[in-house]
Amino acid sequence: MQKVLTIGEVLVEIVATTKGDGFLAAQPLVGPFPSGAPAIFIDQVGKLGTPCAIVSRVGDDDFGRVNIERLRADGVDVSGIEIAEGETTGSAFVRYREDGSRAFLYNIRHSACGKIRPNPVSAALVDSCDHLHVMGSAFSAPELGAMVMDAAQRIKTRGGTISFDPNLRPELMRDPAMRAPLDAILAMTDLFLPSGEELFLFEPDHDEAGAVEALLARGIRTVVLKRGAKGASLFQKGLRADAQPIPVEELDPTGAGDAFGGAFLSFWLRGTDPAEALRLANAAGARAVTRLGPMEGTSTRVELDAILQGQKG
Ligand code: ATP
Ligand code: MG
Repeated sequence: MQKVLTIGEVLVEIVATTKGDGFLAAQPLVGPFPSGAPAIFIDQVGKLGTPCAIVSRVGDDDFGRVNIERLRADGVDVSGIEIAEGETTGSAFVRYREDGSRAFLYNIRHSACGKIRPNPVSAALVDSCDHLHVMGSAFSAPELGAMVMDAAQRIKTRGGTISFDPNLRPELMRDPAMRAPLDAILAMTDLFLPSGEELFLFEPDHDEAGAVEALLARGIRTVVLKRGAKGASLFQKGLRADAQPIPVEELDPTGAGDAFGGAFLSFWLRGTDPAEALRLANAAGARAVTRLGPMEGTSTRVELDAILQGQKG
């Protein structure tokens, strides 16, 4: 089976237990939960039994260990996570406002992952993997961005495939330093996984159908649009499939897009019927929001089937 690689920040998330506007005041917090968009994504890929690995860098601390142990337990090759002595793993504090929106307080500016550089282990992993999942946010850090770009070019040149989740605020897209690498990645992309307005990042002058058509005309094989609590849609040349949202109690939406993406990619790589892969990924996204902690809601195949069975009954 093809092996999937991703490269990027691993951090922990600490979550406020009460909703509130204003600022993060003293209250019970829960966590540290393993986190980081690439980590959540690859954990979901590992849980579905797809061979996979992550390249990252953490401090020699409990925040790093909590991630490494979880990813390893869920089937991810963690040999590419470098442990930097005397440095610290990033963290993020999250609180929910009364209206359900989230406020993040990041502590990653001086994290160990900020000093990630190619090394013999990361080079060997790039050589041994057939698929790279790219997070657009990687390009906000020049060194990480350069590593991701180099890996994408190597894997693509060897005949491998690329999936791309922009995972970006539109403001960042307007930064010219981001634009060039994102355009280059899109030109290599086989599977594009935007969320909401990200569909229009590269095709701003279209409606939804026009943007999808233009993206497919660029040679992207599959476009999957994540619609949050409204479900998801899949587009290929001559094919459209829609997944209605599965009714769930949304406890913590963070990480849903990454769980969805990891699940969709696993089935897409296996050649599962696209509409069925969408249905399973939609279940993975729905289950993800029912758990507190961004990686706590990644799913095994049995758990996805249980969600879909429950929906039928
Ligand atoms: P994030 O970047 O916060 O991880 P995202 O914006 O990339 O998320 P979303 O669109 O929020 O991704 O969620 C991904 C998928 O998860 C949705 O397309 C849908 O299938 C599922 N999902 C998300 N929220 C809900 C919900 N409240 N109820 C049911 N399904 C949901
Ligand atoms: Mg996202």
